[in-house]
Amino acid sequence: MCPGKEKGLSIALKDLAKNHVHRLRPYIPGKPIEILERQLGVKNALKFASNENPLGPSPLALKALRESNHLLNRYPDSSSYFLREKLAERFGFPMGQFIVGNGTTQLIELICHVFLGPGDEAVIADPSFLMYPICIELMGAKAVMVPLKDYRHDLPAMAKALSPRTKIVFICNPNNPSGTIVTKPEVREFFSKVPEHVVVVFDEAYHEYVEHKEYPDAMEYLREGRLVIVLRTFSKVYALAGLRVGYGVASEEMISLLNAVSIPFTATCLGQVAALASLNDEKQIARSLKVNSEGMQFLSDKFSRMGLGIVESYANFMAVDLKTDARELSAELERKALIIRAVGLGLPASFARITVGTQRENERLVEGLKEVLRGKKRKKEERRVR
Ligand SMILES: *Cc1c(COP(=O)(O)O)cnc(C)c1O
Repeated sequence: MCPGKEKGLSIALKDLAKNHVHRLRPYIPGKPIEILERQLGVKNALKFASNENPLGPSPLALKALRESNHLLNRYPDSSSYFLREKLAERFGFPMGQFIVGNGTTQLIELICHVFLGPGDEAVIADPSFLMYPICIELMGAKAVMVPLKDYRHDLPAMAKALSPRTKIVFICNPNNPSGTIVTKPEVREFFSKVPEHVVVVFDEAYHEYVEHKEYPDAMEYLREGRLVIVLRTFSKVYALAGLRVGYGVASEEMISLLNAVSIPFTATCLGQVAALASLNDEKQIARSLKVNSEGMQFLSDKFSRMGLGIVESYANFMAVDLKTDARELSAELERKALIIRAVGLGLPASFARITVGTQRENERLVEGLKEVLRGKKRKKEERRVR
């Protein structure tokens, strides 16, 4: 068989695919715990790589899940009626202004589907959430990348990057992977320069974690009648990443367009049931926020004392300058059953993104990191002696 050719085909399969498809770069997720445990033959791996909530879901969500097994032979309610009803009541918009999807990730794809084709552009920060360029390029459109400034969105530069071909701007607030935010006055200034036909998407996956007076709630811009879409998720503080539920809020007309390009049944029945129940558990959210802010403080102190560089974060993770090859260091940490994220984020090569764990988890991470860094220093000295 010729390399690059399927058996029996006289042409390479990739030449049959649409033009832009073989240029797509896949998303590189954090390594799942069970995969590392299988590789190492251990049972106690810890993951700090995907910004998951280490406390796990609300007990109310777990109870609702146990009581929902009888639903499994039925298709889910494709409209997510009860979840949207609850969200409508919570945020004060009509139900028709909500869409529920298979994670926020799916909603990002739907937005690109509606607005982008070859010749179109979308403006994004660099680095930011990697699903944006992936979904933009999936449509054959161009991702216009505007470098962060001091690890923050450079909104004036993003405004300058708008062209007549720009259809969408993505603002990730807080930004993944840097953890930084843009403020209300900065967004106001930005809106004054954005033409009215450009859709501004606020990805607020970490919204619930932010404590800052000037942090905007993008739903306010929607109330003012601006052309914005607000994205939130049940994957982060609500701790339901495995069930894939995210939601978007926008005008009813926008929601109809997004629904028009979606396949049905993207939000599963268990996902809907668990999301609905977790919205009733304020206590679990409060506990999660407390564990996160204490853990963030603990890790920041330890990392600073170890001479590492940290970017001040408002979310449940932080970008850390490990002052050495981060990919190598993360491979060594994996041998100690500790997973951090050093690849596929667009950060400089000495940076990793580390999710805040529980106190015990954080302590184990700091110990592991110290051991690995000590080992590296020892090796360096040995080399110098020789
Ligand atoms: C985690 C994350 C999401 C959520 O993705 P889901 O598909 O809902 O799990 C969205 N945006 C950003 C920036 C994220 O980091």
